[in-house]
Amino acid sequence: MRPRNVRSRLTVWYVLVLAGLLALYAGVASVFLLLNLREDFDRNLVKDVEIVEGMLAKEPSGGVSLHASRPDASEPRIGNFIEVWSPQGALLYRSAALQGQSMGGPPLQDEGLEDPSPSTTRLPNGTRIRVASSVYFVEDQPVLLRVAYSEERLWGELGEFGEVLLLGFPVAILLAGFGGYALARKALSPIDSMATQAKKISAERLGDRLSIENPEDELGRLGTVLNDMLGRLQAAFDQLRRFTADASHELRTPLTAMRSVGEVALQDHRGPEEYRDVIGSMLEEVDRLTRLSESLLTLSRGDAGHVPLRKEHVSLLELAKGAVASVEVLAEEKHQQIEVQGDESLLVSADRLILRQAIINLLDNAIKYSSTESRVLVRVEGAANGEVCLEVIDQGTGIPSEHQPYVFDRFYRVDKARTREWGGAGLGLSITHWAVEAHEGKISLESEEGRGSTFRISLPAAQRSSTSSPQGGLD
Ligand code: ADP
Repeated sequence: MRPRNVRSRLTVWYVLVLAGLLALYAGVASVFLLLNLREDFDRNLVKDVEIVEGMLAKEPSGGVSLHASRPDASEPRIGNFIEVWSPQGALLYRSAALQGQSMGGPPLQDEGLEDPSPSTTRLPNGTRIRVASSVYFVEDQPVLLRVAYSEERLWGELGEFGEVLLLGFPVAILLAGFGGYALARKALSPIDSMATQAKKISAERLGDRLSIENPEDELGRLGTVLNDMLGRLQAAFDQLRRFTADASHELRTPLTAMRSVGEVALQDHRGPEEYRDVIGSMLEEVDRLTRLSESLLTLSRGDAGHVPLRKEHVSLLELAKGAVASVEVLAEEKHQQIEVQGDESLLVSADRLILRQAIINLLDNAIKYSSTESRVLVRVEGAANGEVCLEVIDQGTGIPSEHQPYVFDRFYRVDKARTREWGGAGLGLSITHWAVEAHEGKISLESEEGRGSTFRISLPAAQRSSTSSPQGGLD
């Protein structure tokens, strides 16, 4: 039974609330009208009691009669019901209009002793009457006088008023229903159009946006939020597409190299030395592929949040020394010198393996992109804001400023031809960036073309506690 669309539900609610309000209004207005009419009624009734009192006269027979003050009025008012009783309960007078019916029988105790306060009762024939009673002395004889009006006219008026209201009621409800439906339809129409537009947006059309009539209202704000979400989805999708395209390109290059080396080698007979060379260069490509797939795996695991960090308190300087030790051979090949400086007591809360790999990537680049016999400096120091910083400073080629914003992007290489030759796929800095962010740290770069580069990692400092041990760990 529940209406299925919001528009109809709003209309039903609107009509129900309006019907309730109208019913309340009709009720209050009727009660108010009844009280008002009754007040007039009672005022006249009390006046009539006084008039009738003045018309009472004692009969010689001991009864009571009404004498007309004006010759044309045999009874004070047509339709008035009058009864006069003796205190002992004998009926002394009853007006003809009552047609012999009693207005409540013999007097009750205390009836009419105070001011006549009218009350409502019914005659035996069902007529509703308003009665006022008063005790009066007719020549020293106390009598109880009851004067009443029929209330039928009053209820008739009230009934007419009710009928007028009831007639208007359905019309008002009908108009309100139509009006409410039209309003709800108009107010909700932007949602319909958004739904139609949203239906058409697919992965291929993520560039489409919902049209917004008024960005300030609630629906406009909803549209803006949805559009922003679409923008984010599009960016993520584009990034994923680029990543897949780059990754397949990177995978294809060594595979093509291996195939062509193999094909050439198979063309004619060669000596063992030559085959050895062929296998050697194929293994180099395999090596490149292995490194690439490992990097891709690390990044995709990092993206999916599947890399649990086994954090412990470690001395950053000690970690840097470990990283230097594992790249020392590369530096020696180029007769480069790596110097490590800093404070051993500076601790960070980190996963040793992951942070070490991040530092190795920076050192690897520093060695790769610096000339022979240059110097690389690794410096660990505390910063004023409670962070611990590690800098890798080289005297290498430097990175031109227009490339600096992108070096942390995946597969980004400044000089594609040359870096490929050195084995880089453009993922080293992306992995470092991910690792530093996973440790709630920041990485920044300062560089000038031809004047070397400084990569700076800032990590929140860890407080030395009695349980922590910079020595214990995974490596
Ligand atoms: P790659 O594996 O190619 O080295 P990275 O992500 O580590 O990829 O680095 C991205 C690019 O940034 C590199 O191709 C290189 O051009 C540049 N780069 C990184 N580190 C340095 C550095 N210390 N000196 C000069 N250029 C650098």
